[in-house]
Amino acid sequence: MDRPVAVVTGASSGIGAATARRLADEGFAVVLGARRLHRITELAAAIGGTAIRLDVTDPESVEAFAAAVPEARLLVNNAGGAKGLEPVAEANEDDWRWMYEVNVLGTLRVTQALLPALLASGDGHIITVTSIAALEPYDNGAGYTGAKHAQAMLHRTLRGELLGQPIRLTEVAPGMVETEFSLVRFGGDAEKAGNVYRGLTPLTGDDVADAIAYAATRPSHVNIDQIVLKPRAQASASRAHREG
Ligand code: NAP
Repeated sequence: MDRPVAVVTGASSGIGAATARRLADEGFAVVLGARRLHRITELAAAIGGTAIRLDVTDPESVEAFAAAVPEARLLVNNAGGAKGLEPVAEANEDDWRWMYEVNVLGTLRVTQALLPALLASGDGHIITVTSIAALEPYDNGAGYTGAKHAQAMLHRTLRGELLGQPIRLTEVAPGMVETEFSLVRFGGDAEKAGNVYRGLTPLTGDDVADAIAYAATRPSHVNIDQIVLKPRAQASASRAHREG
């Protein structure tokens, strides 16, 4: 029997790469999208998937990507990230623009482009990776929390707009996950990135992939609306217990 198709954006690293691997294990034919084609090509070969270059900030790239994916049952909107960690008074407009482009407009573009195929499957599912930054503010994080709130609103609004259609919507909102996220946020500064996870055990990409796989493998009448997962040592975006 043909495997159902799952599309994972941002599949070249972290949560997206782990999700692509896990969904392949669950029996999906996975289409991996990201800008770093060499990485997704290698992973696709390992899991029997397909790699297609995708820049979610570029409408032409999204259009070409969607044209190459005529069938899809599951879309995991995962591409995203943060840049900078400054108070509003010193916020960098270019960083904010990047965060809105990738997290908000990127999710909008990919969702619009793949929605017809998801609906046509008769049993579609959109899983969007937001963040606990979509649930609460934290100091110095307004650009990212703003973008993640907007991305979450897009996703949660669709849950109502698509009611009655054969499609499920799941929001997965993780706390701290050790990936390339902090390296990107701090412009490649490995020391700053490492400090984010100092003295605690963060989530891994596999932990989040496990939550995504759970939602994706329920019977089709069961809609897991939202999954919030954090390390045991993290109570909120601004409160964590660190050893040492
Ligand atoms: P990551 O390791 O930096 O992965 C980010 C992924 O997004 C990469 O595969 C990257 O691929 C892709 N991406 C970035 N810009 C893109 C673009 N313009 N077009 C297509 N793909 C793009 O970070 P991660 O932690 O796995 O992040 C995945 C998602 O989880 C993000 O939405 C992030 O906001 C969310 N999240 C992360 C955490 C955390 O603590 N790590 C917590 C909550 C939520 P290329 O660079 O190859 O394009």
